Amino acid sequence: MAEKRDYYEVLGVSRGASDDEIKKAYRKLAKKYHPDVNPGNKEAEAKFKEVNEAYEVLSDSQKRARYDQFGHAGTDPNGFGGGGFGGGFGDFDLGDIFESFFGGTGFGTSARRNGPQKGRDIKSSLEISFEEAAFGVEKEINIFRMENCDVCHGTGAKPGTSPITCSVCKGTGQVQYKQRTPFGQFVNVRTCDHCNGEGKIISNPCTVCHGKGAIRKSRKIKVNIPAGIDDGQTISLRGEGDPGVKGGPSGDLYISIKVRPHPLFQRQGTDVICEIPITFVQAALGAELEVPTLDGKVKYSIPEATQSGTIFRLKGKGIPHIRGYGRGDQYVKVLVEVPKNLSEKQKELLRQFAELESEDTHEQRKGFFEKMKGVLGI
Ligand SMILES: [Zn+2]
Ligand SMILES: [Zn+2]
Repeated sequence: MAEKRDYYEVLGVSRGASDDEIKKAYRKLAKKYHPDVNPGNKEAEAKFKEVNEAYEVLSDSQKRARYDQFGHAGTDPNGFGGGGFGGGFGDFDLGDIFESFFGGTGFGTSARRNGPQKGRDIKSSLEISFEEAAFGVEKEINIFRMENCDVCHGTGAKPGTSPITCSVCKGTGQVQYKQRTPFGQFVNVRTCDHCNGEGKIISNPCTVCHGKGAIRKSRKIKVNIPAGIDDGQTISLRGEGDPGVKGGPSGDLYISIKVRPHPLFQRQGTDVICEIPITFVQAALGAELEVPTLDGKVKYSIPEATQSGTIFRLKGKGIPHIRGYGRGDQYVKVLVEVPKNLSEKQKELLRQFAELESEDTHEQRKGFFEKMKGVLGI
């Protein structure tokens, strides 16, 4: 037997490590070297044993104290203390340890393969219009998921035949094997090779699903999209994923929503923002505008002398609050357009307008230019 490594070194912890630190280090290493993740790897197997051995001693305060005082001699049944100390190990069921350590994480497949498993989740996406996002919509989505094979009704066996119980594992899907170590016997559990952990052997597989009992099918699913949903949000439909295994629950379906941009509207939370052009004359004299909203066109009066960039609010014309009451607002920004392609007559009228303007507002304009000079220092 090769020289034993220091147990603290094996777990990569300091001599003063707390119980928690030791446990953490052990879990990490046990996971890394577990035979299930390293099938056939002798080196990993040896490491795994070494790690377990170190943990056995360091996790027990009495054994640890003895080890600290006497080193390996303090724990070796053939050395210090004789059989009195080593005999206490007995059978050591790793299956139980891994069940409690890694249960539910999808790790430790050998121990868990036989139990119920949740089906796979399915991810999909759906594109909807701006209005559909605002007011909600019912859509149909096409997904592919595993479903029970109609031909064999999920058994995987050819109609008229049935699976037989595996003779090696007696239907449990697991076989136990014993490992002898200087510390006693380790009872380890691994997946039954004969039936691949299924516990059953299908000698005449169904020709449609090839013995799997399930086949991938295209399925139309109705999706109720709530009013107010926003781009990038996800709708989850419980139980619409792949079916569970051995009585486990079905997986879920996650649909991520993409909202197509709108040519006029932008969205900010539950508010809708839009820009509308108005003419110079409308801005100067005031006007009744037709403003597009999610509910259709509404009339809105802007006052005389409306400046370009002014923002008006249409209360309650925004997007409904998702799963709540009320709606956001719509903000309308008016942009004054400078007229193009004027006729000669229009130009003449504007020149007259300019002359009148310079007389009427001479005092006001003068004030403005004085101010400009002040600011610019000219
Ligand atoms: Zn089938
Ligand atoms: Zn078996």
